[in-house]
Amino acid sequence: MKKIKISQFIFSIFVLLWLIPWSFAQQRETQPVEFRKISDNLYETIGGSGARGGAYIGDNGVLIIDAKMDKNSVDQVIEGVKQITDKPIMYLVDTHSDGDHVWGNQFFPETVIFVAHENCRKDFFLTKGDGSPSDWSKPELAPFIPSLTFQNKLKIYLGTKKVEIWYFGIGHTTGDIVIYFPEEKTAFLGDQIFLTRAQLIHSHKGGNSFEHSKTLVKMLETLDAEHFCSGHSEMTDRKGIKNQIDKMKKCQAKVEDLIEENKTLEEIQKEFEENEARLVEVIFNEIKKGMNKEK
Ligand SMILES: [Zn+2]
Repeated sequence: MKKIKISQFIFSIFVLLWLIPWSFAQQRETQPVEFRKISDNLYETIGGSGARGGAYIGDNGVLIIDAKMDKNSVDQVIEGVKQITDKPIMYLVDTHSDGDHVWGNQFFPETVIFVAHENCRKDFFLTKGDGSPSDWSKPELAPFIPSLTFQNKLKIYLGTKKVEIWYFGIGHTTGDIVIYFPEEKTAFLGDQIFLTRAQLIHSHKGGNSFEHSKTLVKMLETLDAEHFCSGHSEMTDRKGIKNQIDKMKKCQAKVEDLIEENKTLEEIQKEFEENEARLVEVIFNEIKKGMNKEK
């Protein structure tokens, strides 16, 4: 009898230990969507399930940046827009193809025009890690896959208001774009920038850390943007972007040096912070394949 009680006690502790982090994660995920004002027309959409995005109110309609990843969050975005304007949502721009940015596409009205880079659209159809087809290949989801794509630059006019959508090259994936609002001097970068943890580079989507730095440099040279919004961290300025480029270059140089010393990947990873392990592995593989060399 006593034995059963002890085992029950141990079981309860296990359940508790399992539930505590899970409930914290739930709390984080269910933060309500907040519209943070940048100007009368431009807002950052923070919270909900999925990445941060944005909303831009034009003369005749609204453009949304990234879609969150569940119906509840999308409903909150749609409701939030209604609180600001009675203009319809005309466009939804996907910064890239990751689920936390695009899975919510399907919960927007079918009348919305979905916009993305041509490579991002291709990534919607990538087979999963286990070889099974992408969920986006289901016919019922077809209306929510980007239908308006571009290669280098696209301008969308919402009446007199202009939105510039730029492609500066490979980085986090091969299909990451920058949505630029000239009046606000504000650019939305999606996952091209992470400030509070190591940069994600998706090799399986053609991402490349060495190209990533070049792409960000090109963006700074091209745009006179002063504010940069990220999918996963607070807004930053030009200095913040330059710091990230420097950080990446230092990380790459250190990995290169350690490879020269014939260290293994595991040994090299130990020389970095734990959250940098994935990035270090990506850089390691790129160097081994000679992808760090100028073509
Ligand atoms: Zn993301």
